[in-house]
Amino acid sequence: MFIAFYVCYARNELVKFSLNYSILKVIISLKICRIRSYELNHELREPSRISYQSTISAKNVLVLIETDEKIYGIGEAAPFKPSTGDVQKTALKFLKLANDKLKGENPCNIENIQFLLREISKKIDFNSQTAKTAIDSACYDILGKVKNKPVYKLLSSKKPITIPNTITVYIRSIEETVKKIRYIMNKYRRNGICRVKLKLSGNPKLDKKRVLESAKIFPGEFTLDANEAYKNADLAIEVFNDIFEVLGSRVILIEQPSPRDDLKKLEYITERCKIPIFSDETVATLEDLEKIIERKLVKGINIKLQRAGGIFWAKQMAELAKASDLDIMVGCVFESGIAISQDVNFLAGISGWACGSDIDTDYEIKKNLVSEESRISFRNGGRIPLDRPGLGLELKKWVKDLIIKNRS
Ligand SMILES: [Mg+2]
Repeated sequence: MFIAFYVCYARNELVKFSLNYSILKVIISLKICRIRSYELNHELREPSRISYQSTISAKNVLVLIETDEKIYGIGEAAPFKPSTGDVQKTALKFLKLANDKLKGENPCNIENIQFLLREISKKIDFNSQTAKTAIDSACYDILGKVKNKPVYKLLSSKKPITIPNTITVYIRSIEETVKKIRYIMNKYRRNGICRVKLKLSGNPKLDKKRVLESAKIFPGEFTLDANEAYKNADLAIEVFNDIFEVLGSRVILIEQPSPRDDLKKLEYITERCKIPIFSDETVATLEDLEKIIERKLVKGINIKLQRAGGIFWAKQMAELAKASDLDIMVGCVFESGIAISQDVNFLAGISGWACGSDIDTDYEIKKNLVSEESRISFRNGGRIPLDRPGLGLELKKWVKDLIIKNRS
């Protein structure tokens, strides 16, 4: 009997061992075979005008990481020079170098991958945060697929809560702003839209009027984004406090009122403005955040993965911000459904830490790349990640065909 039990025990252990071993084998021995990059030239539905730039297209890059176990990962680089510091050409060049450097490396060891990407940056005379972000996305996608978990579940075991998400109204006349607000209310009513973001121009009269007229129509909350437009700090304080007098706490926050490098001005406005000031352009990376924290310049920060270098760095930014009592919002640049999935998984992965998100550019891009089933939904006022392994994305047929065509 003892022998029978022993044999049975040994066999079970052997089965367990071989099962664990096979999972372990995949994790340990998964190797990057190739990093493929494709130009993604998105057209926007309409011009997006912010204080320093008007945009009608987004020249992005689609990234696919292939592994020896035939598990692939997907990512998107979304360069927007004023925000991310790079352009499509730089991202493509960086990705080519990354392909050489990362071949044979384990994509599931994201810390090592990020270390190697930093090594590339140190060696060359340019950097591409968006290329790093796309590689980070593909690696998390692979890791999620290996572990059979959505990416947000790799970041936290907590159930995510729905965070209010804004749809953005770019700079336009008062009449056009009102028209756009009506359009948004109608289009996103079923999504439970509860918050709208207005881009500000730096023209105090126009900005005040656009916000107040919008608030007469839209019953929900607002966020405002000046994109550095107010060079005169006292004027900014006057405009913002006037808006506060009428709308009170319906205006949740104001992003980046003054020039990014003028930290004194940012601090001055934060101290005197009744609406919480968030930094956006001032805080691109973890290093920038460390500077902000030292001087306690703002009430909160806007974390954008494309500037941070991906989830790996953004998670550290969120942890540092949380530990320093800074509020967090998660934003994006001009990204399609691929990068948006990475953003939303990150947002869900930091769960209740964020007070808001501005993840909406997939609605601004004319041609959608991912299938309807794998599109990130907008429900009850917030963006919700997919409950599928990795980023859970399925590319549309025309994108797959394009990849095959460019491969041969
Ligand atoms: Mg902003």
